Amino acid sequence: MNTTELNQAFTAIFGAEADATFFSPGRINLIGEHTDYNGGHVFPAAITLGTYGAARKRDDKLMRFYSANFEDKGIIEVALDNLVFAKEDNWTNYPKGVVKFLQEAGHKIDSGFDLYVFGNIPNGSGLSSSASLELLMGIVAEELFGLKLERLDLVKIGKQTENEFIGVNSGIMDQFAIGMGADKKAIYLDTNTLEYDLVPLDLGDNVIVIMNTNKRRELADSKYNERRAECEKAVEELNVLLDIKTLGELDAQTFDEYSYLIKDENRIKRARHAIWENQRTLQARQALEAGELEQFGRLVNASHVSLEHDYEVTGLELDTLAHTAWEQEGVLGARMTGAGFGGCGIAIVAKDKVDAFTENVGKVYTEKIGYAPAFYIAEIAGGSRVLSRK
Ligand code: ADP
Ligand code: MG
Repeated sequence: MNTTELNQAFTAIFGAEADATFFSPGRINLIGEHTDYNGGHVFPAAITLGTYGAARKRDDKLMRFYSANFEDKGIIEVALDNLVFAKEDNWTNYPKGVVKFLQEAGHKIDSGFDLYVFGNIPNGSGLSSSASLELLMGIVAEELFGLKLERLDLVKIGKQTENEFIGVNSGIMDQFAIGMGADKKAIYLDTNTLEYDLVPLDLGDNVIVIMNTNKRRELADSKYNERRAECEKAVEELNVLLDIKTLGELDAQTFDEYSYLIKDENRIKRARHAIWENQRTLQARQALEAGELEQFGRLVNASHVSLEHDYEVTGLELDTLAHTAWEQEGVLGARMTGAGFGGCGIAIVAKDKVDAFTENVGKVYTEKIGYAPAFYIAEIAGGSRVLSRK
């Protein structure tokens, strides 16, 4: 969607001109999955699929929201002094939460606004459309109300919205990748210290193919919270002899030596994933920087194996995509990306093999699962930004 189309769509819905237009990306995660809330490293990148917005400041205290993705909901109106979660307010709970926490942090939002939204990230597919929407609301407020904010503050407010307003106990990766993304760069982030590096994502003659299971990840939120609790319990058990805050502080060797302290097989597997995945993420960065793409690909594969067997967050659909991808010609690596239980996988595929890849994987998947997957080429681009001003 370009800015002209965005402005026209805004005017058609709200009957006035927008003050500005915006874009907020989605994200993929190359490797480092379920490590962010375990104090480990992640390696995500912002993509060109994302959420577009157009907005106008109002004179009264009314917020009016419209999403082209939820046309049937029409314009949803919320009073600025009524920033509480309400199920019937549907998707607008995300922007409501962001406005609430901006205000709580002392930023002055003293009038309402009209906001038009259109996203081309498939919702609920693990490319983080929710964080994309949160950051979009953040930069809209920043622009309309002239707020003085560090980007990291917006990232944290997005996470706070997800955790405290929506009730998903997620880590900081999604909002960080979306807020801080840069053209052709992946973000190597230490989720413990929030130190990060932008690493050039040079894949030579290969591209990243996003593979969408087209399965909604229904169980994701409850299982997500369950995994989190299992890891916290494992930390507690390890701390009988160790002194750690998160699993991310341990190397694989130390973990092996002390894993006998964990009194449950599942929790040993969960902790093993968190710790080994953290190490793989560091190794993947090194491989990428050294141009060792095959090594990088093998680490990506290993990540999937660990998520499948130790962390147990994949499921038949994601496993079918990854396993089938591994068998195709020209594939360096493939894995699930995001929280799991459906959603998307990624594969690193030679450019001239992409057509055969999508055809073959699509065929096997459809035969086995009963419906077709979808494929998109992931282009890596910048973070949330203003596109145009009136
Ligand atoms: P994911 O973040 O993996 O895409 P979530 O379930 O966390 O999945 O978030 C999806 C929800 O975010 C949608 O159900 C909707 O409430 C909201 N959302 C995302 N994109 C849009 C959009 N373009 N318009 C309206 N709501 C959106
Ligand atoms: Mg989400």
